[in-house]
Amino acid sequence: MTENTKKKVSVYDNVTKQFNKAADLMGLDPDIRTILSNTTNEIVVNFPVTMDDGSIKVFTGYRVQHNSVLGPYKGGLRFHPSVNIDEVRALATWMTWKTAVAHIPLGGAKGGIQLDPSQYSINELRHITRRFTFALGNNIGPEYDIPAPDVGTNAQIMAWILDTYVSMRSPQERHGASHIVTGKPIESGGSLGREKATGQGTVYVIEMWANDNNFDLSKASYFVQGFGNVGSWTAKLLKQLGSTLKAVEDATGAIFNENGLDADELAAYVEAKGGVAGFPGSTAIDHDTFLRTKADIFIPAALENQITGETAPKLNVKLVVEAANGPTSPEGGDILEERGIDALPDILVNSGGVTVSYFEWLQNKRSEYWDLEEVDAKLFKTMKRAYRKVRSTKSEYNTDWRTAAYIVALSRLATVYRERGIFP
Ligand code: GLU
Repeated sequence: MTENTKKKVSVYDNVTKQFNKAADLMGLDPDIRTILSNTTNEIVVNFPVTMDDGSIKVFTGYRVQHNSVLGPYKGGLRFHPSVNIDEVRALATWMTWKTAVAHIPLGGAKGGIQLDPSQYSINELRHITRRFTFALGNNIGPEYDIPAPDVGTNAQIMAWILDTYVSMRSPQERHGASHIVTGKPIESGGSLGREKATGQGTVYVIEMWANDNNFDLSKASYFVQGFGNVGSWTAKLLKQLGSTLKAVEDATGAIFNENGLDADELAAYVEAKGGVAGFPGSTAIDHDTFLRTKADIFIPAALENQITGETAPKLNVKLVVEAANGPTSPEGGDILEERGIDALPDILVNSGGVTVSYFEWLQNKRSEYWDLEEVDAKLFKTMKRAYRKVRSTKSEYNTDWRTAAYIVALSRLATVYRERGIFP
């Protein structure tokens, strides 16, 4: 992970290149191309927070709203040292493509604060979150722009956003606003199955790919980058299918065991220790050795730009499954293609998270609780429909998975623009 933070790369440039490749291939209307090449709103807020020692610190928060032609803006909030306007812009844009591929009636947005959550107490994080929500004010709303968890944020942070947001409404409006955020704790209006949803959707996609390729997942080996919500859930669910987890890397280091690392034990260890380093029964390896792990599948589930022109030649796998957003640069993607490594793209693979966010939003609006079987069944149906649509588009255009997924998304957006026209 380190080499990526060293280099100044524009993640938004990566989105633009991916977008242009698909737009060229499908012959996207030039006006729609111009519209979608821009974000709609970019909100930057600077806000003061009192720290535990009584000092005051000013934080910078972002919310970028890329597009809402298919529905309200939707996307997570990231608390991480790498957050900047270029990254948030890219992540917001990917959300527009993702919701369009999943075919759910939502648009795309993303936000965040540049900070390292591990450097703050719970009390400080609560104050930062509440003050950020207050600063955003009416730039978010349950029928307008609905945040969710992302890297460095979780259900607790969503509960604080909910509470702050509704406290700023009149008493009459408060209960009608619980769908201001998704990914909430269950008792505060969250959905069953939301916590595991991104990992679950990732595993559904892997199973569909395996089925198409006569690939036995019970004999498969894989390795994962990132062991937060997405990486750990993906691994726990792949364990149930009998696949062997050979290596894991996170911000604390990389670990390896040829005979397999137990995903459930590792998740409990990470919960207690804050990272994978030192996990009993594993060997510490360096980043380069990690990337060269010989396995069937590599699952990046951390940050952007991990598979690049420099690192893609090192991979020793048949399949890359992008559980993270934007883990592959365009150069990295070209190398995977030349090397005959299939790469299932982020906007398809990790769309399970926002899909169950949509289910949570619907449950809140209808004052309903769905059981886990219902959520999982609906998620599977949505992922299957998206996978099949991308697969048929891939063969129709004789292109790679990512470009096919973009074509699916861009066709839907272009159709709506054509039907509605441009105001006035
Ligand atoms: N942060 C997740 C993503 O990148 C989930 C977004 C959401 O649920 O709104 O897709």
